[in-house]
Amino acid sequence: MNRYAVFGQPIAHSLSPRIHAAFAAQFGIALDYRAIEAGRDSFEAALAAFARDGGCGANVTLPLKEDAAAFCSALSERARRCGSVNTLIHDGDDWVGDSTDGIGLLRDLARHDLDLRDRRVLLLGAGGAARAAAFALADAGARELVVANRTAARAQALAGALHARARACAWDALRHAGTFDLVVNATSAGHAGDVFEWPLAADEAPAAGYDLSYGKAARPFLVAARAAGVRDARDGLGMLVEQAAESFERWHGVHPDTAPVHAQLRIALDARG
Ligand code: NAP
Repeated sequence: MNRYAVFGQPIAHSLSPRIHAAFAAQFGIALDYRAIEAGRDSFEAALAAFARDGGCGANVTLPLKEDAAAFCSALSERARRCGSVNTLIHDGDDWVGDSTDGIGLLRDLARHDLDLRDRRVLLLGAGGAARAAAFALADAGARELVVANRTAARAQALAGALHARARACAWDALRHAGTFDLVVNATSAGHAGDVFEWPLAADEAPAAGYDLSYGKAARPFLVAARAAGVRDARDGLGMLVEQAAESFERWHGVHPDTAPVHAQLRIALDARG
């Protein structure tokens, strides 16, 4: 049986094994896809052991996406540009890296009729997922992309990589940054469950907010966004399913139907509370 896995930390509650099992069932593909706990110190050894056991492909999540990009022998154009990898393809003794987060985000925003052309967009975060999101948002035609991050230097580096298509803003200065059409939260802050301190001025509520996280991790941002007057605030469950579909296509050469998988997961997530 073909072996696949998702690596990350924490990983126990990952929905990826369930998503890939559902996709595989659509095509009658037999696969073994599991979640493997690995942090930055243990990732390389865990991936080598996985390859020895016949691993053909893997997903990589928090906090490993930038490390994975450095570790690959070759990168897709989109992974090279954003310096982040979430999909690994085993090629001989090497790993080829791809990044499907950006296209996954755009597919989900399109599903919600969120047209980015000529929009002013704020991106919070500058980690692996934020890097993929930033290039995708710029490519989709955002008029202005502002990046803010807890560690300001990483926001500046990301904005610099996007050249004139983005600018960095200090987190504390967001109160004076004017009105945005869309705020995308690509930080992992919600995993700690702390209250999300809304960073924009009280009278500058954007029309839409999107947290890349889902389930409990998305709640602090969604609660704060709605309290600030954001009418359309969404989590990243749809992005999770869409980026998984792109990974699946890289490995198996076919694109699954995402709608039924998304609907099933939404029901399961709502039931978890
Ligand atoms: P990462 O590379 O570890 O980056 C984490 C980011 O969050 C960094 O910008 C970090 O800032 C910031 N951060 C962490 N704790 C914070 C806090 N307490 N306050 C403010 N900022 C904080 O992680 P990642 O892979 O980019 O993932 C980011 C989030 O996106 C995660 O919640 C992940 O679950 C989600 N995600 C979802 C999907 C999906 O398909 N829906 C795909 C990818 C990622 P510093 O630079 O200051 O450390």
